[in-house]
Amino acid sequence: KAPDNPDERIALAAELKPIHDVLADRVKITDPDSYALYGRYKAKLDVNFAKQPAKGKLVLVTALTPTKAGEGKTCTSVGLADGLNKLPDTTAIAALREPSLGPVFGVKGGAAGGGYAQVVPMADINLHFTGDLHAISTAHNLLSAMIDNHIQWNAKPQLDVRRVEWGRVLDMNDRALRNVTLGLGGTGDGVPRQSFFDITVASEVMAIFCLATDLEDLKTRLGNIVVGYTRGGKEAVTCRDIGAEGAMTALLKDAFNPNVVQTLEHNLAVIHGGPFANIAHGCSSVVGTRAALALSDYVVTEGGFGADLGAEKFFDIKCRKAGLAPSAAVIVATVRALKLHGGVDAKELTTENTQAVRDGMPNLLRHIENVAKFGVESVVSINRFPTDTEAEIQVVKDLCKELGVDAVVAEQWQHGGEGALELAKAVQGLCDKADTSKFKPLYPDEMPLVDKISTIATELYRAKGVDISKEALTKLKRFQKDGYGHLPVCIAKTQYSFSDDASLVNAPEGHTLHVQDVRLAAGAEFVVVLTGSVMTMPGLPKRPSALDITVNENGQISGLF
Ligand code: ADP
Ligand code: MG
Repeated sequence: KAPDNPDERIALAAELKPIHDVLADRVKITDPDSYALYGRYKAKLDVNFAKQPAKGKLVLVTALTPTKAGEGKTCTSVGLADGLNKLPDTTAIAALREPSLGPVFGVKGGAAGGGYAQVVPMADINLHFTGDLHAISTAHNLLSAMIDNHIQWNAKPQLDVRRVEWGRVLDMNDRALRNVTLGLGGTGDGVPRQSFFDITVASEVMAIFCLATDLEDLKTRLGNIVVGYTRGGKEAVTCRDIGAEGAMTALLKDAFNPNVVQTLEHNLAVIHGGPFANIAHGCSSVVGTRAALALSDYVVTEGGFGADLGAEKFFDIKCRKAGLAPSAAVIVATVRALKLHGGVDAKELTTENTQAVRDGMPNLLRHIENVAKFGVESVVSINRFPTDTEAEIQVVKDLCKELGVDAVVAEQWQHGGEGALELAKAVQGLCDKADTSKFKPLYPDEMPLVDKISTIATELYRAKGVDISKEALTKLKRFQKDGYGHLPVCIAKTQYSFSDDASLVNAPEGHTLHVQDVRLAAGAEFVVVLTGSVMTMPGLPKRPSALDITVNENGQISGLF
């Protein structure tokens, strides 16, 4: 029986080319030593491609403040790459994040695009793929096991069991593991202590994996992870003190080679690494991006959430750290999100309402202004949904024109690369005249951590100020004193508002950003700033999508979307 989800129907009907043919055809890679096949349709590229000189231009796909359903950044990235590949003598690669099993079995579903803008084989990409998440979980949990062993043998430096900050991970939404007690039994069974599980994508190992530039850098960063403190919190204890970084790197060696698959139009896509977008930076791997830049004229990549979070972290963390300079940004806008910002109830977003579209424009405009603050020019891509009316689309186009903003309507979901041709041409135009030396992160490395937080809050979120809890302030002072003051900050904030209050839609001003806590990610090299409670081990909803997933006697999986 044909599945009733259109994305799935399209993905299942797709005729795939063997991945070695796609590599040969699109990027002229024919030497079988330069990649490893994982079946017929997946491969891992040699990570050394990341060391070759970049020939391509980097394009970021970001979005206005989204609705709960997502506004189509992944679809736009895939469609734009397919569209660019249709231009004469042009190659483009989409560089995307790998999905986590948590959302696949939970509510949001997979992350392989949708409609005619998808990457395939969809089921493989969503389930297990090439085993990267397994490798990352195992590397993380090896360190956990070695920490408990360190405690068991009372090894030096002596960890305070109440100050161990490293938990365990699993790639699953499993709320029952959020808080656990370890070491029950007897003297031979470990030391009893309270601990926790996070989902794998929230692991610092995942963030490190995505920011490391080569295996040596990966090992150094893993060694730098702070796992806890000695008694009284005097000394930080690192992964290097535990001695785990070599074995962890060995576990990650193969996973570190970027994965390649194809789009529905047989163009190459790199799908590698997928860190959380709140407590981490939410971008696919640096080595994947760099390898793609060495192989094609354009690399289209996606940041998580809206531009206030995703673009800011892409620029201030990934690009700053990896020395990347983007040539252009695409800001995805949808009629439904504009209506939400214009005051329409979330249940009424499919009813025509041109006034609400107009009223929601300040949200989009602020994101455009913000991206310009990094010295990057952008184009608005209106991602057309079947429920949008001509009049609504026209309002967005007219208002953008009035304000001197470049905007195009994109229909990659309906028509694949053909539907994104106008967008592709606009992006090519921006890239042709881009001066990448104008790219600059929002704040300099030397700025104190507290000032970095308030710069982002006032410049991008348009807050009137920042209120930092006493606890967070004490920690920030300590990080500053311990030599981490030069790190960028990674703000964990609701994706639904410029403020830290999810109900303040559109373009709020004069609000206060409340910083509750901060955490050091010494290996990933950023300081996480928590502006609310962040769930790092999600739960399953009352009716998880796992209930609809099954496999038939021919081995065909259904129910993924
Ligand atoms: P994001 O990356 O911004 O979270 P996705 O590209 O994953 O968003 O899209 C979110 C969901 O919306 C997907 O299920 C996708 O198929 C659907 N979608 C995206 N664009 C359209 C469109 N133009 N029309 C209909 N559905 C769409
Ligand atoms: Mg996405």
